[in-house]
Amino acid sequence: MKTTCRETGIEFEISADDVAFYQKISPRFGDMLCPVPPPTLCPEARVRRRLCFRNERTLYRRTCDFSGKSIISTYAPGTPFPVYDNDIWYSDAWDGKTFGREFDPRKSFFHQFGELMREVPVFALSQRLENENSRYTNLVSNNRNCYYIFAGSLNEDCFYSTYIQRCRDVADSFFIFDSELCYECIDCFRCYQLLYSQECENCSSSQYLIGCTGCSDCFGCVSLIKRRYCIFNRQYSRTDYQAALTQLLNEPQYAARTASTLQRLLTIEPRKFYAGLENDGFSGDHLAYCKNAYSCFDCTHLEDCKYCTWLHQGKDCYDCYAWGLNGELGLENHLVGNNFFRVLFCEDCANNVSDLLYCRGCYSNCRHLFGCIGLRQAEYCVLNKQYSKEEYEQLVPKIIQRMNWDGEWGEFFPAWLSPYGYNETVAAEYFPLTKEEAEQLGFHWRSQPLPGVYSGTPTPWEQLVPDALSSDPDLPHRTFACTISGKHFRFTQPELKLYRKLGVDLPRRCFDQRYLERFRRRNPRRLFQRCCRNCGQEILSSFTAEREECILCESCFSATRC
Ligand SMILES: [Zn+2]
Repeated sequence: MKTTCRETGIEFEISADDVAFYQKISPRFGDMLCPVPPPTLCPEARVRRRLCFRNERTLYRRTCDFSGKSIISTYAPGTPFPVYDNDIWYSDAWDGKTFGREFDPRKSFFHQFGELMREVPVFALSQRLENENSRYTNLVSNNRNCYYIFAGSLNEDCFYSTYIQRCRDVADSFFIFDSELCYECIDCFRCYQLLYSQECENCSSSQYLIGCTGCSDCFGCVSLIKRRYCIFNRQYSRTDYQAALTQLLNEPQYAARTASTLQRLLTIEPRKFYAGLENDGFSGDHLAYCKNAYSCFDCTHLEDCKYCTWLHQGKDCYDCYAWGLNGELGLENHLVGNNFFRVLFCEDCANNVSDLLYCRGCYSNCRHLFGCIGLRQAEYCVLNKQYSKEEYEQLVPKIIQRMNWDGEWGEFFPAWLSPYGYNETVAAEYFPLTKEEAEQLGFHWRSQPLPGVYSGTPTPWEQLVPDALSSDPDLPHRTFACTISGKHFRFTQPELKLYRKLGVDLPRRCFDQRYLERFRRRNPRRLFQRCCRNCGQEILSSFTAEREECILCESCFSATRC
């Protein structure tokens, strides 16, 4: 059946499979089944609503409302709710149940949830498990000596990178896994000493590669497999390669020449219509080992899922953004992971959680919770108040009845409940809006300047000596102005050490600008109808129909690989 999004006015499809899924995931309380209605927002509006709860990279210095200590947090100073240092939040120094309250049937549920949100403490940063010497990181676990790492785990000595796992000595990268000594790379796996590259696997000692596999000592190549000593897809001997590369790198405009040559190669050299491998029945991009997964992006090991992003090891999940690692039956969640079962409309709940509805920040063996915030090892609570199993099963259907009346049941938390300004969150990256547009749609907006601006006079770039990276001991104390945005920034000692190790020049654009440029180089999380350049078969691809790349269907692409 077709239905119209109440926010965007876009018509979208709710299939028979979708209806079956909503029936399957509908919760039961005792004998009472509470059917989940089909969505009223189109898939994109639903992603936007979830993403306005996801502040990945906007960090502030503020005080811990428990200890008064200076901390780093995704929450700006002056929030209406208390923000605790992570160590305190995870300790027994406080108990979420002390904030418990009766559900008031005269008021809407979301209104009462908002009241609870204003009182229950939240943790300063989303940091799980051990993070050693990695204060300025968020949505992370098990990192060591990392700085400005977001959505990443098990990294060491990495900087300014987002969606990064098991890496070492990596900087300015986006979606990079199991790699070492990489710089300005996007969507790369198992690479070593790779610079300025995208969609590569198992490549080393190379620069400016796109869509290459198993290559080493190559420069400016597209779609090569297991090659060595190639420049712009042309084969050289080992000695000729070194000479030609030296000559090229000495050209004053080599970067511009490389960019235009790559652009030309991309129109000739074949690329697969999506990035990924070993999928069976799917649509989306950057998928691996998925079966029956549709409109999914950046996911692995999914089964029977739809509209999911950055979800791993998930089964029967719809509309889940991050992170899975064994999750089954999830609907409209953000940041739910580490063993979950039947979790609906929740935000930031993890570690063996089941049968949660409309909860936020509930952790560690929580089950049968409705509308709770910041609980741990709890069951049968509503608005943080403890009930018996029988009381819980009687009360929840009544609340759902009231929510149905208010048009709240089946909807994720509304934009006005987000603790962040739209412009602090990832929503603004994928769905840019002006302040007026955002506010008209009910999103908050942070009008105060966003953080990270250093005062003081910046050192003019012309004053830097060419070998400043090795010869200027004052470098970490200087402030610079981004050549694009004008935003002031500084270099840290460990960062400079990595630039020396990688042999790259000092970046002249600030971290945010560099991030933005990488973000734009990645295809959108959207699918477009286009045709295979070779056989004409219709394909759903994240490459728009207008783009000139040589995009092939799976079988035509495989044929080029033999
Ligand atoms: Zn084809």
